[in-house]
Amino acid sequence: MIKKAIVIGAGISGLVCANYLQRSGIQTLVFEQAASPGGVSTSWKRKGYNFEGGIHWLIGAIKEIPLHNIWLESGALQENNPVYFKDPVYTLVDRAGRMPLYRDLHGLELTGWRDKLALAVLKFDLLCFDGFHQPITDIKGIRARYPSPFSLWEYIKMGGAALITPFLVMQSARFYARRFRNPRIRALLGAVVEPSINALSLIYTLSTFHMGDSGYPEGGSLQMARNMASHFQGLGGEIRYRTRAQEVFRLQDKWAVRIGEEVFPADAVVISVDARSAMDKLFRTPLQDSWAKDMRKGLRTTQCMFLGVGVKADLSTWPRSMQIVLPEPLHAAGLTYRTVVINNYAGVKGYAPEGCSVITCLLHGSTYGWWKAAREDGTYAAKKQEVMHAFLEAVGRVIPAVLEQADVTDVATPLTYERYCSTFEGSYMSDWPPFQPLYHAPYRYERGLYFTGQRTAYSGGLPPAAQSARLTAQYVCRDLNVEFVSHE
Ligand SMILES: Cc1cc2nc3c(=O)[nH]c(=O)nc-3n(C[C@H](O)[C@H](O)[C@H](O)COP(=O)(O)OP(=O)(O)OC[C@H]3O[C@@H](n4cnc5c(N)ncnc54)[C@H](O)[C@@H]3O)c2cc1C
Repeated sequence: MIKKAIVIGAGISGLVCANYLQRSGIQTLVFEQAASPGGVSTSWKRKGYNFEGGIHWLIGAIKEIPLHNIWLESGALQENNPVYFKDPVYTLVDRAGRMPLYRDLHGLELTGWRDKLALAVLKFDLLCFDGFHQPITDIKGIRARYPSPFSLWEYIKMGGAALITPFLVMQSARFYARRFRNPRIRALLGAVVEPSINALSLIYTLSTFHMGDSGYPEGGSLQMARNMASHFQGLGGEIRYRTRAQEVFRLQDKWAVRIGEEVFPADAVVISVDARSAMDKLFRTPLQDSWAKDMRKGLRTTQCMFLGVGVKADLSTWPRSMQIVLPEPLHAAGLTYRTVVINNYAGVKGYAPEGCSVITCLLHGSTYGWWKAAREDGTYAAKKQEVMHAFLEAVGRVIPAVLEQADVTDVATPLTYERYCSTFEGSYMSDWPPFQPLYHAPYRYERGLYFTGQRTAYSGGLPPAAQSARLTAQYVCRDLNVEFVSHE
């Protein structure tokens, strides 16, 4: 008899999982509340401008990194979205001029022996991470048509990274960067990851640059998600958009999903929704397992404000990704920013009308409460405009066209992510702050019910989403006694 699975959510983890389940012969139905696939990893159009609201760096973009196989097997990377690898990866823009961060770290302005030493340490750390990648393995007891064994040699190669990882997780990226005496280098490194998260993320991300990985698939997040959705549909799977799962519950010996009055029982229900919100909202009574209680108590969410500006000017003389040191600090949503990372899509085909450009910026920080208060007192829309205005003024001091020729603007707040993707407090990915436990939900809750996505694996963005989804698909296959088929 054909086995049936339901996946709740067509974000990246839901789509990866659905592709593997369908490929393995399990008839899979995906419910997605939004009108399009991708979840938080998406982009959208406004009056001829394309705002990339997701991928800056796709890890696993080169075939040497095993994660690449997941992107191929789920249809994410195809001929229609070749990956562009930029170098420099970031450029500092400040009063003193420009300083690029190249993938091999050449050209950093070292101001003395302390900087030379700091660079040597950084290079050593990157050497330790050389060849490091998240292992793609099979779970115990799975029948895989194409097993993915992880050899002892692979583990040995990762020994260097394992040795320094404990030191890296105990310090923030900001603390790590303080070894450099030159404040410009510190500021430049601040562009790579949000400085309050652990230094492991900084070194890991820099190491992916160093290895020649991490690029931007042409067409961006939406194209990639659409590729995955159509790949899944091509395998015979079904996606129902604008369909919100309201409840997950036990129905005799199965789990089922309720949508309005309709009930959909399945052999496996996979929740790819942020587990922190799912555990309170998707069940008749909030989950009370120990992992759920711990997560409820200790989890810190990762929030951002997204700002996009369509500019009636050609900004292609400005770097593609820049860390701007602002002449005057930017005050936004109760936080103060002295630097901003700007992604400049000038010259990227199809992102703006002829002669125009798009820039985007993520302002990190916990602003959920601030925005919620604004919504409650009726000032939400006005405050979004205020934030955008402050941003345009601040960046306009460095790139005047951004202020003078702003054509179309858009702001997404944590409330936007909460509303459209149901992530907890509008979280846009997961992180692992120094000295805190890593909270996660189990891949397999019990036979028939599974979690995947941003709260199930190690912290991060797309890589844990993809990897967790592959593992979850394997748990489903094992429980249903189905062979796991990853590709043709
Ligand atoms: C601006 C931005 C930039 C980023 N940049 C990068 C980057 O450069 N590199 C990187 O690796 N990561 C990046 N990330 C993070 C990465 O995009 C996310 O970590 C990842 O996409 C999370 O995927 P997910 O499938 O776990 O969750 P989600 O994307 O949250 O997917 C969950 C899906 O479930 C749907 N859903 C929720 N509730 C229901 C329901 N009840 N019924 C039906 N459907 C439901 C949601 O609509 C959503 O589609 C970025 C994120 C943002 C927002």
